[in-house]
Amino acid sequence: MILDWLKEDIVLGDGGAIFELERRGYVSAGPFTPEVAIEHPEALKQLQVDFARAGAQVLQALTYYAHEEKLKDIGKVDALARINNDAVRIANEVAKEYGCLVAGNLANTWIYDPSDPATHKETRRQFDKQIEYQISHGIDFFIAETLEYLGEARIALEAIKATGKPAMITLGFKSLDRTLDRVVLEDAFQELEDSGADIVGINCFRDPEHMLPLAARVRRKVSCFVATQPVAYRCTAERPYFQIQKFQGHLAFPLELDPFVLTRIEMANYTLKAKEIGINYIGGCCGTAPHHLRAMAEALGRSVPNSKYSPRLELHAIIGDEGHQKERDERILCEQFYDPAVCHFMLEGNGED
Ligand SMILES: [Zn+2]
Repeated sequence: MILDWLKEDIVLGDGGAIFELERRGYVSAGPFTPEVAIEHPEALKQLQVDFARAGAQVLQALTYYAHEEKLKDIGKVDALARINNDAVRIANEVAKEYGCLVAGNLANTWIYDPSDPATHKETRRQFDKQIEYQISHGIDFFIAETLEYLGEARIALEAIKATGKPAMITLGFKSLDRTLDRVVLEDAFQELEDSGADIVGINCFRDPEHMLPLAARVRRKVSCFVATQPVAYRCTAERPYFQIQKFQGHLAFPLELDPFVLTRIEMANYTLKAKEIGINYIGGCCGTAPHHLRAMAEALGRSVPNSKYSPRLELHAIIGDEGHQKERDERILCEQFYDPAVCHFMLEGNGED
């Protein structure tokens, strides 16, 4: 189904569920594990409803980090099956109501070591377990994400291909345009396409501005579908990924990223640029919230359930049109049109010599 949809049009992905649920109080920053699926299923379901109403066409089951290696850290390895089951079940409940597709989800395991073949087997075993617990509950295709080793991506792809479902493989790039096993991105994605990946692309770490130039190179290289799911946190040329942004002299990740959140307008512009360079699957990763998604959907000319509540600024009492503007405070009115510093000068006569 996903492949038919992609042939027709751009598919809009979803947002950053782990980070959004962390902000809402249901995920612990640090482990970033998704036990919310069994401990507060109502919170997970609400977020997926929010994504769907904002225009997401695919809901990823929240099974990111629901593998043994991470569940071990929080003492919940015995919940492996339940978390994977329930996350898929919840995504399906929402998908059914809003006509979305459900993607199973795998992520980097942190055990893969290119020089140690035993870890390759263990990585495959852990992916297989997650797939086994996800697939029986309704999966249209699988996404393997935030992979930094081509070797680990290859293992995820093989595990997914063994199910017969379509595979979307997205790699994460921090400072460099190559994988941690030193394969330049064009070669990495070409190999994944040749090995049967249906959709390849980039997710997480970088913001749209610093991801799209890499994505354009992928687009030029491969002939399969291409996906981008950047973070919605502002990065810079010197610091192109979100984990190393600095706030007041120290690292902002992960508790002080708030000042870096991109606006919905920036995410809408990202969507248009991604469309322009031929990206087929456009979504967001960490930091991408429902208000971003709605703006992204509307940038594509779509009307989504929550477009019902889209901005109607003309009705606003301060910034609205003539018939609706009621504000009389000169300073506020002034600041609509001028930089606040200019208003200060104009209203109070300050700044004069
Ligand atoms: Zn992310």
